[in-house]
Amino acid sequence: MIRNALTVDVEDYFHVAAFAKSISRSDWNNHNLRVERNTHQLLDLFDTHGVKATFFVLGWVADRVGGLIGEIAERGHEVACHGYSHQLVYEQSPDVFREETLRSKALLEDIIQSPVRGYRAASYSITKRSLWALDILAEAGFVYDSSIFPVHHDRYGIPDAPKFPYRLTTPNGQSLVEFPLSTASLLGYRLPMAGGGYFRLYPYALTRAGLRQINNKANKPFIFYLHPWEIDADQPRVEAGWLSRFRHYNNLDKCEPRLRKLMSDFQFTTTWNVLQDLDLVE
Ligand SMILES: [Zn+2]
Repeated sequence: MIRNALTVDVEDYFHVAAFAKSISRSDWNNHNLRVERNTHQLLDLFDTHGVKATFFVLGWVADRVGGLIGEIAERGHEVACHGYSHQLVYEQSPDVFREETLRSKALLEDIIQSPVRGYRAASYSITKRSLWALDILAEAGFVYDSSIFPVHHDRYGIPDAPKFPYRLTTPNGQSLVEFPLSTASLLGYRLPMAGGGYFRLYPYALTRAGLRQINNKANKPFIFYLHPWEIDADQPRVEAGWLSRFRHYNNLDKCEPRLRKLMSDFQFTTTWNVLQDLDLVE
């Protein structure tokens, strides 16, 4: 059976890009953290199903709840990097990106006392405008990236990028493994099948059909992502535009029961293990 990558982007509900206009970064400290409790709930759920996962941790969160990050590693999961500030990469300068990425990686490595090899950008914001970020990730010693979403979307996406894990050459000639966010061809469209808001939006049967297509027809692993706040139906509501509110709050109560089904229907492990299965890393 093909092993797939289960990933969690460890951030709180007020960090999401969709709310950036409503909640400024300077205001983050005024919000009570819910990420610790929600992540514990995920860790317990993964234990119940005997699943190991990859946690892409936001540096801002690691700075405040370092104990949680240590616990993630101690419970046998992979700790990877989700940047520091959750600012979109294509809105940063290369210098700012380099500084915050190195800071976040060092912070995580200091906590877990072991190398951090994987990176995922805030809101998949490595696009054609920000491919320079891949140079900086390779220079920083990352082995793989999982930030490229091969779809059309208003905030992210490289629609013609490869659909399955591959070794890419960065613009300045370095080598980096990419695990693109998963998509499936259904009803004549390339649909995102990677988790998050799509997992809450689609009926579970559609998600399962798309993911089975990837495993059984394409014979490839998929990568699935979710956020701790997606299993927290009671989180405080943020004032924002209707589309942002819909994307964030739709079907929050369905996420955890669906996740349980998903974990019985498919095999999961860390991103690193899946890339090893594919001989893309050592
Ligand atoms: Zn994020």
